Amino acid sequence: MASDKILGIDLGTTNSAMAVMENGDPEVIVNGEGDRTTPSVVAYNDDELIVGEPAKNQAIQNPENTVESIKRHMGEEDYTVELGGESYTPEEVSAHILQKIKNDAETYLGEEIERAVITVPAYFNDKQRQATKDAGRIAGFDVERIINEPTAAAMAYGLDDTRDQSVLVFDLGGGTFDVSVLELGDGVHEVVATNGDTSLGGDDWDETVKEWLADHFEDEHDISLRDDRQALQRLRDAAEKAKIELSSRKETEVNLPFIASTDEGPMHLEKSITRDTFQDLTDHLVERTSAPTKKALSDAGYSTDEIDEVILVGGSTRIPVIKEQVADIVGMEPQMNVNPDEAAALGAAIQGGVLSGEVDDLVLLDVTPLSLGVEVKGGLFERIINANTTIPTSESKVFTTAEDEQRQVQIRVFQGEREVAEENELLDEFKLRGIPPAPAGTPKIELTFQIDESGIMHVAAKERDSGEHEKVTIEGGVGLSDKEVERMKQDAQQHSDEDEMQRRRIEAQTHAEQMKQRAERVLQENRDAIANNVVQELEAAIDDAETALEESTTDISRYDRVASQIETTLGKVDESKLSSPKSEDNALTDAGTGETATAEAGGEVDNVDASFRDLSDD
Ligand code: AMP
Repeated sequence: MASDKILGIDLGTTNSAMAVMENGDPEVIVNGEGDRTTPSVVAYNDDELIVGEPAKNQAIQNPENTVESIKRHMGEEDYTVELGGESYTPEEVSAHILQKIKNDAETYLGEEIERAVITVPAYFNDKQRQATKDAGRIAGFDVERIINEPTAAAMAYGLDDTRDQSVLVFDLGGGTFDVSVLELGDGVHEVVATNGDTSLGGDDWDETVKEWLADHFEDEHDISLRDDRQALQRLRDAAEKAKIELSSRKETEVNLPFIASTDEGPMHLEKSITRDTFQDLTDHLVERTSAPTKKALSDAGYSTDEIDEVILVGGSTRIPVIKEQVADIVGMEPQMNVNPDEAAALGAAIQGGVLSGEVDDLVLLDVTPLSLGVEVKGGLFERIINANTTIPTSESKVFTTAEDEQRQVQIRVFQGEREVAEENELLDEFKLRGIPPAPAGTPKIELTFQIDESGIMHVAAKERDSGEHEKVTIEGGVGLSDKEVERMKQDAQQHSDEDEMQRRRIEAQTHAEQMKQRAERVLQENRDAIANNVVQELEAAIDDAETALEESTTDISRYDRVASQIETTLGKVDESKLSSPKSEDNALTDAGTGETATAEAGGEVDNVDASFRDLSDD
């Protein structure tokens, strides 16, 4: 019979770990090899798939059939790896890791385990979370919850702590660096900001030492090891070993016999390395943790001396100079009384305990790392849920149509921080049909974005009058790699000025276009009721607007001028005589009027079928 225990799993980039609640406390479970962590490596060898330490151990001999760091590709569509002539998705590869973890846990506990809580980086997007959940399902788990790694780590530390405090979680693993600011109190753990570098981790330290060793060998023997893959793998393993030793010793020896063979016979690499040399070599890597840490603090609204606790997570935080660097930035000694490799798994087990009822008084809150929204008129990105919003969350905004008689709208859901939707990541798109015929800007289409506890997003669209509705759960489609998330954040930062200009220009242009259309409608429907001179004035204003729009000028003030010219002239019209809707706050957006998603109603603006305009803050 299956146990009601819930396994807490840290599915890591380089290593994974698992834990479970035993008599009220989280305990790490050792794997089949007797280790507390399992390398996240899958390989094909001797006609079978092998996972963990055995897979890592044969990586040197069998690089073509070995998969490492698959987590970097989680949620990426169309990404597959070949193992033994078969192709596997990232979910499937991860499922093999989870399957081993499941089997090992069951052997250790002597009972079947079906339920699991799995941790993911706080910046993982919906697809990456969904893919992680799928991997768990393929492995035979009921995945009860996907939780953020920093939150899990804090739980591992903060179980008994009920006082309010702010915590910096500094997580430097094998391949990634994440830093998060959490607020804890009353059993509530909230991630208030996250940052990091998805291409920085212990591997970079290994790589640097490896290069240094290869240089040294080349200087000494005039032989390059760089074309010999096996030699390079041995160098890398030796570099990692040296790095780890230098965390507790001041000096270590690298010994690699038979690293190369020449006409004169085999060559050996023997080199000692001191901690000082190691630190000089890798200083630039340590420095790269500084800016993201400061940024997370400032995003969270804290100065460096306002943090109550600092937690170190990830094997690489054992490097002494990393500890010193963190201590320098926040002006206090980091906590390390929970094993940094195990904190996330322990926290996941605690969360499992909360779900199974074994632990109470603990609620979990997480945040969305990037903003979520839709494409609106002119291709702009309209945020519905802002970055760093606590989840679970639900937000709604009201939008409208762009064209008269428009029967359907295309809803394109994006994630990112750029002002132009297309610069962000398209998560999904769908249509809402059956909108009753009405003048442009009249229908009220309410969009609701809901993110559940596991970070999975549901988008619902509803036309208020007719009750027509449509909804999607964001899964499938193109996913974001860790690197892309990071790149998007940086991109948004770099382009913030030009994005702002572009947003203002498009808004001004859109407004001018809306005013022009409104004036045209007023004329069309009420010409006889309007004084002649006002009609002429209005026609002239419409002409001016048309010229500006046709020229597609980049001069924002010109759009503003033509729009206000129309507005002033419209002000001279006796409103009681008008039959068309007065309010422009139900303002126009272009949207598809035809049967296909690409139907262009307006034509002047790109992505015309894609758009709404937000009404809620008009
Ligand atoms: P994680 O992904 O958290 O398991 O971290 C794995 C990374 O931590 C790898 O790059 C390891 O080489 C590194 N690591 C583990 N132990 C140590 C140590 N004592 N000193 C330095 N790095 C370590």
